[in-house]
Amino acid sequence: MMRSIFFILLFIAICVPCQDLFAQSASKPRYILAIHGGAGTILKKNMTVEMEKEYTNTLKLALSKGYEALKAGKSSVEAIAQTITILEDSPLFNAGKGAVFTNDGKNELDASIMDGANLKAGAVAGVTTIKNPIKAAIAVMQHSEHVMMVGAGAAQFAKSQHLEIVDPSYFWTKARWDALQKAKARDKERAELDHNANHTAIPEVYKDEKFGTVGCVALDRQGNLAAGTSTGGMTNKKFGRVGDAPIIGAGTYANNQSVAVSCTGWGEFFIRSVAAYQVSARMLYAKQSVEEAARGVIDEIGKMGGDGGLIALDKDGKLIMPFNTEGMYRGSVAEDGTISVEIYK
Ligand code: ASP
Repeated sequence: MMRSIFFILLFIAICVPCQDLFAQSASKPRYILAIHGGAGTILKKNMTVEMEKEYTNTLKLALSKGYEALKAGKSSVEAIAQTITILEDSPLFNAGKGAVFTNDGKNELDASIMDGANLKAGAVAGVTTIKNPIKAAIAVMQHSEHVMMVGAGAAQFAKSQHLEIVDPSYFWTKARWDALQKAKARDKERAELDHNANHTAIPEVYKDEKFGTVGCVALDRQGNLAAGTSTGGMTNKKFGRVGDAPIIGAGTYANNQSVAVSCTGWGEFFIRSVAAYQVSARMLYAKQSVEEAARGVIDEIGKMGGDGGLIALDKDGKLIMPFNTEGMYRGSVAEDGTISVEIYK
C-alpha cells in the first residue's frame, strides 16, 4: 500500500512540471506591436536583393522604434507615432515622402489614429504640406474637439500645433511620378478603346500602382490598444478622392474590449465593408476569434471584388495579418523583443 502511494506521488511529481513545460512551449508569443507597409502585386521576381533589403531594414527599424517606446512605458499611441514616422519619412512607402500622385500631379495625404482606451480618434485627409500626417491625426485627437480635418484647414491646425510644414515638392519621388505617367497612359488607351467601341467604362484608375500605405497596431504596458494608418491614397486619384485610411471604422479602428486594426488595399471596398470596425464587431457580437474575424472581413472584401489586407492585434496580444493580394509588407514584435518581417505570401 505504502509503495503504491509512493509511486503515485512520484508520478505526480514528475508529470506536473512536464505539463507546465508543454503548456509553455505550446503557447503562442504575445505580440505588442505590428506594422504593414501596404498590400498589392508584390512579387519576389520583381524585387532585387537590394530592394528587398531596403524594405526589410526600414520595417525592422520602425518596429524597433515602436518596441523601444513601449518598453520605456510609453503609450500605444506614442509608439505608433514613432513607428509610423519612420515609415512616412522613408521614400519606399506610400505615406509621407514617397506618397503616390493624384491625376493632376499632386500628393494628397491621409492619416488616422484611434485610441482603444477611450475610443477617441483623429484624422486628416487631403493634406499637402504636413510632413508627418500621423502626427497631425494625433494632434486632432488630442488637442481639438473634432475627429477629422481636411485640406487647408487641417494644415492651418497642424501649424498651430507647431508640426513641421514642408513645401509640397518634399513629397516628390521619381518612382511614384513614373507610376502616375504609366497609369495615365493606360487611362488614355482605355478611353480610346471605349471611344472606338462607342461606350464609356468606369475608368479603372486604381489597379496596380497602389501599394505602400503604412499602418501600425500596438498594445502598451497598461493594456491599451491603438491603431494608426497613413497613406498617399491611390495613384491617379481624382476629384479630391479620399480612401479608407483616414476614415475611422474603415481603415483604422481600436477598442480595448476587442482589437486594434489597420487596413491597406483598395480603399473603396474597405469603406463599403466598414472593414476595421467589422473585425471588432465580429469579435464582440458574433464572438469570433481575432483570426476568424479578420479573415472573414478579407474574404468578404474579396467576394465584393476588392483586394488588400489588414493587421489585427487583440487585447491578449494575438496577432493576425491576412491579405488576398500577392504580398503585403508586414512585421511584428513580440513581448520579448523578437522582431519578424515578411513580404510575400
Ligand atoms: N487604402 C488606401 C486607399 O485606398 C490605399 C492602400 O492601402 O494601398 O487610399
